Amino acid sequence: MDQTEAVHPAPWAESEGIRLLQGVATAMVRLAEATGTESLSRPYPEEAQQALNDIALACLLLKADPPESLPELIDWAAHRPIDKWTFTLPADAIRPGSLLLDKATRRPAQLCYEWAVDAEESTALSERPFMGTAATRCREEDYPEAYQAFRSLLIRRPVLTHRDLVTLPGADDGLLGPLGELLHDIYQPAPASYLDRDRRIYTACGRCRTLLHPTTEGGLWCERRSCQDRDSVRPGREFRADDDGGVHLLIGPLRQWVAAPGILEERLASRLVKSGADVELWPDYGAYGVRVSLADGTTLAVEHKDWTSPALLGRRAAPPLSGPPYDRCFWVIPAARVREQPNYRAVFERYRRAGSPDLISDRELVDTVRKAAGTGPSGLDTTSDEPAEGLF
Ligand SMILES: [Zn+2]
Repeated sequence: MDQTEAVHPAPWAESEGIRLLQGVATAMVRLAEATGTESLSRPYPEEAQQALNDIALACLLLKADPPESLPELIDWAAHRPIDKWTFTLPADAIRPGSLLLDKATRRPAQLCYEWAVDAEESTALSERPFMGTAATRCREEDYPEAYQAFRSLLIRRPVLTHRDLVTLPGADDGLLGPLGELLHDIYQPAPASYLDRDRRIYTACGRCRTLLHPTTEGGLWCERRSCQDRDSVRPGREFRADDDGGVHLLIGPLRQWVAAPGILEERLASRLVKSGADVELWPDYGAYGVRVSLADGTTLAVEHKDWTSPALLGRRAAPPLSGPPYDRCFWVIPAARVREQPNYRAVFERYRRAGSPDLISDRELVDTVRKAAGTGPSGLDTTSDEPAEGLF
């Protein structure tokens, strides 16, 4: 027998549990984007039917009770921790107790998006096609300011009315330059499941500004991890459903993979500047997140990631493919993730490839910058966790 096979578990993509989980996660994200997980009728969307068939077959082989319908599979995803799904998964692939869907809203949890993008065939759930198009158009016109403005818009304004969409400064020929048309693809009419049907309003999150989702208990829920970490939801601006041509929401992949980390990257950048570094956000049309120049002349390429799963993050870790040169490359996670999952770094290390970026917490990066500038450790951090106002 091959020595490698004797030591390591089955390769990731060949593990049956992994394929099943990727299939269910992809189906759940697509359902949530298309029709919501609450209004389902047969025939089910193809991917959802396939995920249901695969799980049912696997259950039969294991002599376990299968989910008999898509609503039942959704119920599993919202209530049955993944480690109780009876399928074998590689070590540390899942943190015990993890759910794919939020219990009270049946919306995909962040972990669900992470599993969906881990499936190679689900690039449509990734931000890459849209951000790639934006970068190419701006590069062709030699217009980096438009790319920066576009990125800021996605972070600061995940919700727009139709009127906003057509009247944004520069949507035709100004600041957003060649990207005006792209906005109509990436801001879609807000799904009805977000609507307060009695008051006919949508409510934005007072912290991250995406739409809050009503819960089955009459409350509101924010999909963003760091908003969920707070004691309570903070409702922000209300949008009347029928005013100004209707409410549009940034599509899921861009909320998840551009807007949410963008808030963290902007916040990190301002902390690094205060600590004595020179910082450039999204250099070379977004080749990577932040270019940091330290006082001692060292240059870092940094990406801010806030992933639930250190295994999936480790699998994805890769250095930038292009962009301005740097001496070292880091992926940064909030210090809170390491406090909450003490084995986060160890699991990331186990799954990352040789030559991929090192993992570091935001606090450690700020301390490194301060040390290089000769200003000592950071101490208490009072920087706000909310995106700055303005620009649009
Ligand atoms: Zn929020």
